[in-house]
Amino acid sequence: MSEDSIFGKIARGEMDADVVYENEQVIAFRDINPQAPTHVLVIPRKPIATINDLEPGDRELVGEMFLAAKEVARLEGLSESGYRVVMNCGEGAGQTVFHIHLHVLGGRDLKWPPG
Ligand code: C5P
Repeated sequence: MSEDSIFGKIARGEMDADVVYENEQVIAFRDINPQAPTHVLVIPRKPIATINDLEPGDRELVGEMFLAAKEVARLEGLSESGYRVVMNCGEGAGQTVFHIHLHVLGGRDLKWPPG
């Protein structure tokens, strides 16, 4: 199912996105409905539907996603001011696209806890 998600198409280069960072394993692009001045999504090129579908072999890939989030924050000038990195898992948590993605949010005050 996740192979056919919109993020799968972006990962395979079949759909345009406002890409801010990419390497062989991950791609980071601006969210089309930003919730903060910076709102970038980091996805693996490999289609994985949810956190529940992660396997031990994905360990390095998950680390790569966080390193990409750090690089996005640096490129966006957020390293010092602070930013939030979050991943929703399942519809009950608000996940709408079933290809895992880290949200990188910053550029405004962020409240805690999130709603
Ligand atoms: O965590 P969740 O699955 O809800 O996040 C999906 C995100 O993907 C949303 O923030 C939505 O705005 C974004 N999106 C996007 N481009 C699309 C479809 C959804 O940036 N074509």
